[in-house]
Amino acid sequence: MQQKPPPPGEPDPAAVHHTSTVEQGKFCTAHCTCGWRGPARRARSKARSDALEHASAC
Ligand SMILES: [Zn+2]
Repeated sequence: MQQKPPPPGEPDPAAVHHTSTVEQGKFCTAHCTCGWRGPARRARSKARSDALEHASAC
């Protein structure tokens, strides 16, 4: 059986970043499917912008 390398330009499903925000008491933290976690924020909008920044940086 032959193993082909993945074609360039095609996104690797394992490398896709799906971010979400998780509320922890008074704080809100951004989480990503890659295992990344953002800093605890008091504002959910801040946690969301952390998540967006992470997803675009990766
Ligand atoms: Zn990620």
